[in-house]
Amino acid sequence: MRMKKANLPSKVCVACARPFVWRKKWERDWDRVLYCSDACRRGVHPLARRAASGPR
Ligand SMILES: [Zn+2]
Repeated sequence: MRMKKANLPSKVCVACARPFVWRKKWERDWDRVLYCSDACRRGVHPLARRAASGPR
């Protein structure tokens, strides 16, 4: 038993600030992955939108 899920690398989404773990679809692009989901990447996540709502 050496393939534990806990062994997967993880990052924190820059949009929603939530941790997310490595996924198969990112195996070639993990170094460049910044967002946990397409929604965050597009900036449609509520928290992401708030963070990017401009100067205040
Ligand atoms: Zn996110």
